[in-house]
Amino acid sequence: MILGRIGEGQKRIRLEREMRCTRCSKRVPGGIVVADGFEKTGEFCRMLEDLRETYLCGRCRDAKRVGEAAERTRRTADGAP
Ligand SMILES: [Zn+2]
Repeated sequence: MILGRIGEGQKRIRLEREMRCTRCSKRVPGGIVVADGFEKTGEFCRMLEDLRETYLCGRCRDAKRVGEAAERTRRTADGAP
């Protein structure tokens, strides 16, 4: 997955970081791709921390999306905006 901004023509590097789904704790394979040098910035650290707290695997993300859609439908049925 790509973290942060990668400008056109900017070198990309892949970082091997273990990510776990915050919902099912499944280990998600694959590294994080960033612009070269971005991994040394404080912004990167913050983004990675946020990501660790909110990360969902594909399956849980789908489940969440379905749940949110159902929630929207329910609210609409109640007459709320
Ligand atoms: Zn999951």
